[in-house]
Amino acid sequence: MTAIPPRDGEDLEAARRLFAGPVTFLKSAPGLQHLPPPDAPEVAFAGRSNVGKSSLLNALANRTGLARTSNTPGRTQELNFFDVGEPLRLRLVDMPGYGFAKAPPAVVRQWRFLINDYLRGRQALKRALVLIDARHGVKDVDRDILDMLDKAAVGYRLVLTKADKIKASELAAVTQGTADEARRRPAAHPEIIATSSEGGLGIPELRAAVLDAIG
Ligand code: GDP
Repeated sequence: MTAIPPRDGEDLEAARRLFAGPVTFLKSAPGLQHLPPPDAPEVAFAGRSNVGKSSLLNALANRTGLARTSNTPGRTQELNFFDVGEPLRLRLVDMPGYGFAKAPPAVVRQWRFLINDYLRGRQALKRALVLIDARHGVKDVDRDILDMLDKAAVGYRLVLTKADKIKASELAAVTQGTADEARRRPAAHPEIIATSSEGGLGIPELRAAVLDAIG
């Protein structure tokens, strides 16, 4: 299994300190014309709806209510930007969830256009973190965005969520399977981060991965 390599304690501490400081909502962008000026490096979070993205963003920033869920198909076609650090160090970008069972085709099309335009045209975007439910592993709905990231040559990392919901042996197996998927993909980072917003597993490593992404 591909484990998270031991990290320099200093990396973890620098990342902890960064996220203990200001993290503030900047704006929602329903289209590219609404993006903020590209004046800070961006790290984007993607994942199917209900994967635990809002919970993970809140855990990352060590606060509640920063990222809100809006699990209504058709009402989530926005990129949400959060400023991190004072002075500003980076921006977190909460990408609209995908994979709604009942999403109308027009909504899916709109999602694809928004995401593709953002991924292909945004110089400030340094890396994406793609969240995968640890109970399910990588599914075809996830592969759709992985393909988009590979084609746009945006580097990304796969992050397992809700690790507390499965046994350690199952987590080891899904981590292995996810690492196998990552190895086959040109823009994927080979190491998988397993997280739980409930228990806090992997949150320090995820913070360090965000900081690492902006180099
Ligand atoms: P989003 O739609 O991707 O933003 O997902 P949410 O963050 O709203 O989470 C969806 C559901 O999963 C909620 O009921 C959360 O309480 C639950 N959830 C999220 N993260 C975790 C986790 O790490 N562990 C457990 N057990 N439940 C979680």
